[in-house]
Amino acid sequence: MLDSEKAPIDNRGTLPYIRIFVKPSNQDLAKPRRGAYYKSMFTVIPCAAGCGRTALSGSQTCAVHAANRNKETARIAAYILDQDVIKDLCAPDLHFESVDFSRRSFYGCNFHGASFSMCLFTRTSMRMCFFDFAFFNNCDFSHSDLQFTSFAGSGIRNCTFEGSELVHLNFGGAHISESTFNDSNLYNSRFIGAEMEYSDFIDCNTKKTYFVKTKQEGISFKSSNTAEAVFELEF
Ligand SMILES: [Zn+2]
Repeated sequence: MLDSEKAPIDNRGTLPYIRIFVKPSNQDLAKPRRGAYYKSMFTVIPCAAGCGRTALSGSQTCAVHAANRNKETARIAAYILDQDVIKDLCAPDLHFESVDFSRRSFYGCNFHGASFSMCLFTRTSMRMCFFDFAFFNNCDFSHSDLQFTSFAGSGIRNCTFEGSELVHLNFGGAHISESTFNDSNLYNSRFIGAEMEYSDFIDCNTKKTYFVKTKQEGISFKSSNTAEAVFELEF
């Protein structure tokens, strides 16, 4: 399903530019074009202020150099709320509060370093999205379909991902606390180096899920097939 081709790293932005082609599966809620390969993703355009960060979609500057960051957040949120399918959106370092993102499909979007408080992502579909170093507090991802998406280095506190497809996700180095992933499919997702505390992974598919070098306290894997998960690398 996924063929990837890494292009040379573009040092102008805060993220490496990677050219990736994703063939939509039959399960995709929204297909860009039937039978076509979806050419992802957001283009990294550097901030006009020369800070090296990525400019927001529809703007010349990054969130830090926006004349009014709240106004930019409201503009981007309004854009999302107006769409069923959101593609190639660049919205790093914005703070979203009490926004209902539910039931939308996101392809190739960049939310690097953004923060989300009391936001709804229920029944969302995501492919190739980046939430690296983002922060989530009290957010609801239940019954979502997330694949090939990164939450690396993110903070996840008091969130639910229950009853979801969480396949090929990257939670590497994330700090996860007081959150639930129950009744979810975590196939081939990675929590390498993550700090996990007081969270539940009950009745999950953890086949090929990597929990290598995680710090765990108060974690329940009850009724999950942890024998098929990877907790230590064997050489
Ligand atoms: Zn800037």
